[in-house]
Amino acid sequence: MAHVQRMSTTLLKTLRDDPADAETASHKLLVRAGYVRRSSAGVWTWLPLGKKVLDNVSRVVREEMDAIGGQEVLLPALLPKEPYEASGRWEEYGDLLFRLKDRKGADYLLGPTHEEIFTLTVKDQCTSYKDLPVILYQIQTKYRDEARPRSGVLRGREFQMKDSYSFDTTDEGLAESYRLHREAYTRIFERLGLDYRVVSAVSGAMGGSASEEFLAPAAAGEDTFVDCPQCDYAANTEAVTVAVSPSDPAGHGAVEELDTPDTPTIETLAAHLGVPASATLKNLLVKVDGEITAVGVPGDREVDLGKLGEHLAPAVVELVTAEDFADRPDLVRGYVGPQGLKLRYIADPRVAPGTAWITGANKPGTHARNVVCGRDFEVDQYLDVVVVEPGDPCPRCGAGLEIGRAIEIGHIFQLGRKYADAFGLDVLGQNGKPVRVTMGSYGIGVSRAVAALAEQTHDESGLCWPREVAPADVHIVAAGKAVQTELALELADKLGSAGVRVLVDDRTGVSPGVKFTDAELIGIPEILVVGRGAPQGLVELKDRRTGAREELPVAEAIERLS
Ligand code: ATP
Ligand code: MG
Ligand code: MG
Ligand code: MG
Repeated sequence: MAHVQRMSTTLLKTLRDDPADAETASHKLLVRAGYVRRSSAGVWTWLPLGKKVLDNVSRVVREEMDAIGGQEVLLPALLPKEPYEASGRWEEYGDLLFRLKDRKGADYLLGPTHEEIFTLTVKDQCTSYKDLPVILYQIQTKYRDEARPRSGVLRGREFQMKDSYSFDTTDEGLAESYRLHREAYTRIFERLGLDYRVVSAVSGAMGGSASEEFLAPAAAGEDTFVDCPQCDYAANTEAVTVAVSPSDPAGHGAVEELDTPDTPTIETLAAHLGVPASATLKNLLVKVDGEITAVGVPGDREVDLGKLGEHLAPAVVELVTAEDFADRPDLVRGYVGPQGLKLRYIADPRVAPGTAWITGANKPGTHARNVVCGRDFEVDQYLDVVVVEPGDPCPRCGAGLEIGRAIEIGHIFQLGRKYADAFGLDVLGQNGKPVRVTMGSYGIGVSRAVAALAEQTHDESGLCWPREVAPADVHIVAAGKAVQTELALELADKLGSAGVRVLVDDRTGVSPGVKFTDAELIGIPEILVVGRGAPQGLVELKDRRTGAREELPVAEAIERLS
């Protein structure tokens, strides 16, 4: 009985009540429907139905990664400290890393992401430009000691990620590998049935330049993003391209003039920005000992003001002024506010002359939105923060922007040579000289995608899976006595042989009502009820999503479902 799973023998116990600590629909429903079970904070057991969904997501990811020429590998999750020390991430990751020691006292970590190890693998295996380009991927358990593991598998401390890495000898090659991934991701999320947006992003701890995120709109998401209802403009809240005219700042209402002294200290700077001195500050441009330092450029996204002071003391931290940009036309053109830098022009062909972006800080109730590095600004430029309200004009088409919540389901980066530099990853070029390799890194939250799907597709009765990821194609409910059960199993057998994936509720001593409730909760797309009409060879087919039901002869039901 291939493809047939009997509920009477399945490890599956549905729950009537929501888990006490659950706040989001995916958390509640995945637990109640018996897909996952909490093991410890942010660590989850995948039960049979859940494992099927997880495997379906993995299969789609695999197929699309293979289609772009990706080669699947499996690297260890248990990793020695040294490579992460070489890249600086042993320090940078701080508390996020799970660290451990072996019996000899050597330091190890549980991999949060694998740039270092893939770089070393390629260094070990590839010697010539002929060995490249190469795309390697794995679907693997990742470990991050998240400060706030929440929402079940949405943010775990142990979770499944597909991570891939591209290795090229040229920038054009990297751009092509990136494009391939972008397209693969589009196909993956479409096949999974996720509603998603692609937004520009900053690269965070990964370093590097161009980067985009795939966001699945959902109230339970932890990302805030801007969405244009009329064109395809979308951006996350790291920075935004809302254009403001410096000559008419009031017209937009978003210009913040910070009345700063000429040479603020960390404390006065923080005070002026309206944040505590210990705040994590993004997107601020300052001068440290006379050098312009873009606090919050990719690779250095977040700087603790207090720590900045510590590290740089007795450095003088100043806000930049107009003169600072005189010899940096690549960075900024134009307007600088009377008290330090307030507004900056950026050479962006889309933004009309006379418009500007605004500096500022992330204050409660304000949002910073993102732009695409490389497209909108150069790598060594900084991002700006702007206060944007729903209804503000879209920088692309002028329509009123919407602001929503979303789940980050994927993230693609053009890393460039950061890791290749750290590990001296060269191959012999065509001319016999070594060439430094350029890299991309690309992640999909495989386990998170399951939760994101649950968030987006559930209804008040339960889960409601798109077919591609559902644990089965059809859920047969034997609603009655022996005759119903017999027919249900016979149907299951026939469908199973035809390659249809079947879950059949053949439990005895469970009322039809309970079985119906469970079927709704479990969320398989088609529900086939073998009930009163069974003796006459009639069954009822119900569409889980629409609720539409139809009584039809057994043979027709089989044909419809096969
Ligand atoms: P987040 O902003 O949600 O913390 P991230 O930006 O730290 O995610 P990446 O380093 O970009 O995550 O990792 C790639 C992908 O792995 C993410 O896009 C996300 O889908 C997934 N992911 C990251 N952290 C977790 C987690 N704690 N639990 C489940 N999935 C995760
Ligand atoms: Mg994170
Ligand atoms: Mg993120
Ligand atoms: Mg990310």
